Amino acid sequence: MLLNSYFDLVVDGMCIAGMAIGANKGFIYLRGEYRYLLDRLETRLAQRREQGLLGRNILGRGFTFDIEIHLGAGAYICGEESALIESLEGKPGKPRIRPPFPVTNGYRGQPTTVNNVETLALAALIAVRGGEWFRAIGTPASTGTKLLSVSGDVERPGIYEFPFGVTVAEVLEAAGARDTQAMTSAGAAGHCLSADEFGRRIAFEDVATGGSIMVFDTSRDMFEVARNFAHFFAHESCGFCTPCRVGTAVNARLVDKLAANRGSPYDLDEMAKMHRLMQGASHCGLGNTATIAIDDMLAKFRPAFERRLMSAEYEPAFDLDAALTKARQMTGRDDPGAHLGDNRSALAEARAGVHGAAAVSPATVRPAQAKDAQP
Ligand code: SF4
Repeated sequence: MLLNSYFDLVVDGMCIAGMAIGANKGFIYLRGEYRYLLDRLETRLAQRREQGLLGRNILGRGFTFDIEIHLGAGAYICGEESALIESLEGKPGKPRIRPPFPVTNGYRGQPTTVNNVETLALAALIAVRGGEWFRAIGTPASTGTKLLSVSGDVERPGIYEFPFGVTVAEVLEAAGARDTQAMTSAGAAGHCLSADEFGRRIAFEDVATGGSIMVFDTSRDMFEVARNFAHFFAHESCGFCTPCRVGTAVNARLVDKLAANRGSPYDLDEMAKMHRLMQGASHCGLGNTATIAIDDMLAKFRPAFERRLMSAEYEPAFDLDAALTKARQMTGRDDPGAHLGDNRSALAEARAGVHGAAAVSPATVRPAQAKDAQP
């Protein structure tokens, strides 16, 4: 929306940033999904050069600053600043190890500042109207306004600008939300609020947001929402660090197992454990935020998950008996005792036995019992 309708404001903001930090080159990193904007933006940049608003000696003030548009391939992770810089340099978009930070070692090792279009557009307005004007809007801890992209179960989806401090209920009302059971505050990567929390405020000190508000009415199955999110992050994880690469894949498998009605409370605990692990150990923001909404949904909409459970016991996600085919061939056995019947009874026996509960997998338990059954 900003590039479409307020492009000059964004470019003005970039020029101000260039002047402030002593840079003479700026890049607009345009996601592949926005390819359709490229020609129009290039034309507008060329017009600004002709008008003396970009390029050499801007407005005769001796300041030179030009802008290049770089087209990305559509990877979510390239919104992370160091991954974005890597992509700008023509490399795969993987977040860098920091320090050093981009502010000293950014694009091609040069000091670099990376901001989103909203920040740059606001910087241009603040340069004209002053900091006091901006500070008078919002709350003391969250000054100014916030653009909110509201989507989902609303009559009027779109981009809204609100002062910080607006309540979630006011945002939902403006967008025409009805029978809302939940919203997420930062797309798939933010907190999930239930209806009893809609009095909370959009602000850094309360509900922080990247601007993407997703709304779910009571017709939605929140388990399916969580499942969708889990698969989204498994797809978008760049694979650089193990907690996120493995964690997002494990999460996706866990929700699939639940969807197939093969899950147990053990799997719900695993999802909660995965959330804690990924939050603490992931290398970048994607892994740190990938399970926040899912964990909230698990806590606030637990019946939607529990409806999927097959039993109160551990259920394997694959066919254990089929997995033992090779072992039967090797031992030359195919009698009933060499087959797994009810895995749950095997596990229950194991839990009651010397092995202890969680450490024993049915695959290791049952063959031993089968062997014991032999003369
Ligand atoms: S957290 Fe995920 S997206 Fe970020 S570096 Fe690790 S694997 Fe890549």
